[in-house]
Amino acid sequence: MKDKIYDVAVIGGGITGTGVIHELAKYKLETALLERGLDLAVGATKGNGGVVHPGYDPHPGTLKAKLNPAGARMYPRLSKELGFGLRRTGTLVVAYSDRDLKKVDELLDNAAVNGVEQVEKINAAQLRHREPHINPAALGALLAHTTTMIDPFEVAIAFAENAQDNGADILTGQNVTGISKEDDGLFHITASGNQYLARFVVDAAGIFADDVAAMAGIHEYRIQGRHGNLVVMDKGLKTPIQTVMFPCPGPDTKGIALIPTVSGNTLIGSTATMRSDKNDVSNDAEGIDELVAGARHLIPGADIRIIRTFAGQRPVALDNDNDFYIRESETVPGFIHAAGIQSPGAASSPAVAEYVVSLLADAGLDLKPDPDYDPFRQPKPDFSTLSPDEQDRLIRQDPAYGQIVCRCETVTEGEIVAAIREGVGARTVEAVKRRTRAGMGRCQSGFCQSRVIDILARELGIPQEDVRLEEENARILYGKIKGAV
Ligand SMILES: Cc1cc2nc3c(=O)[nH]c(=O)nc-3n(C[C@H](O)[C@H](O)[C@H](O)COP(=O)(O)OP(=O)(O)OC[C@H]3O[C@@H](n4cnc5c(N)ncnc54)[C@H](O)[C@@H]3O)c2cc1C
Repeated sequence: MKDKIYDVAVIGGGITGTGVIHELAKYKLETALLERGLDLAVGATKGNGGVVHPGYDPHPGTLKAKLNPAGARMYPRLSKELGFGLRRTGTLVVAYSDRDLKKVDELLDNAAVNGVEQVEKINAAQLRHREPHINPAALGALLAHTTTMIDPFEVAIAFAENAQDNGADILTGQNVTGISKEDDGLFHITASGNQYLARFVVDAAGIFADDVAAMAGIHEYRIQGRHGNLVVMDKGLKTPIQTVMFPCPGPDTKGIALIPTVSGNTLIGSTATMRSDKNDVSNDAEGIDELVAGARHLIPGADIRIIRTFAGQRPVALDNDNDFYIRESETVPGFIHAAGIQSPGAASSPAVAEYVVSLLADAGLDLKPDPDYDPFRQPKPDFSTLSPDEQDRLIRQDPAYGQIVCRCETVTEGEIVAAIREGVGARTVEAVKRRTRAGMGRCQSGFCQSRVIDILARELGIPQEDVRLEEENARILYGKIKGAV
């Protein structure tokens, strides 16, 4: 590794870093992505609402206002090229007072300035026609037609796998602990005992981006986390919704929303409180109560059946007008900050990637298009969505597709084996879950986790005790209990 010189090393395998490595793959370059987790998308990218906001919200003139609408517009094409799920839902921003209705007008003005189309103000009757369970006190709403839903972790994996197919090195388990720019003009990067050399560095380390920059002697900004609780509800609720529904936004948050997801569950998200501990992704009871109250404000009789709670921290660059912090370092040329990517960072990611690559070009990176670049990624079979004939054919090709492992989400052994063997292969139980949905259903892996551990151990050739849940220190099994079989 030490003798290979990368043109660009991207640090951080969330939706920002994987977006950048995917964008760089279009050019004739040697690139590497260094992610400290055992899998990609283990930071904010796995703990968020997954709403591709169309861009009516960000304050005009900010980077968010430029990159959010541009990123959102790119998603439908990317979904086709990379084979990730995308569901068009639209968004409602619901008004309960004259002040809220004025806020809706402001958002409409924002939308016009930010170049967001298909946004309109609708009255109470139109609102009820679209969402019959909505609070009868609602006076009207902003309706943004083009909002889509994604699973950001699925997008990140798809970005990275396509980049890998086009020659990028995707290196997980690489915790960057040292960076120095030496007299040879190269960045010398230390990660998990390995040394890497690169002409340019992109710091996309999420909430830890300022810590990574500090390793290179850069102290130009600081990051703090804005924590958010979310809950996942069961499928088949008695008060179903079709549209993402928000109340009118506050200064730092879009408010508590009801979110119909790609997979058919509904989320309630997200709370927003600043935290000093960057590693704190625990849930808190007050936050969950706030979510339930927020959902009931939108739908008073909402059927709320929670199957899972989770949380994430939005990386907020302090003293930066609540905006993304994306620029070349003022003190260390060739070091690009892709930082402070708070919400709507998932929605903006494809445009953030283009912008970062343009900054690399400004900094001197030579961008020669690669004539062999292939924008398409072959998605792996999703057994539960196939017709009976297609399922039959698959089982005849490989009987492992006839073994259902996760009953809640109908995930087969064949899909789990493919998730481990192909692409950026899964190495942990959570990595299998992100790729196949095994464990995401109503029983939350009560039935399938032991089977998934068994398959991971077999495929990786390791003892079951060495299979991790997510992180290196997250062991699940410690050995056999005497007498048990
Ligand atoms: C509660 C909540 C709700 C949200 N809802 C939405 C939404 O609906 N729509 C939307 O668009 N956005 C939403 N967001 C924002 C979105 O999730 C983030 O903007 C986005 O995921 C940021 O991605 P990232 O790649 O910059 O950071 P991350 O996903 O955090 O990735 C950073 C990566 O860097 C790695 N890393 C850190 N330090 C090192 C190191 N030293 N060496 C190597 N690797 C390192 C980490 O392990 C991590 O994988 C939400 C966020 C939260 C928390």
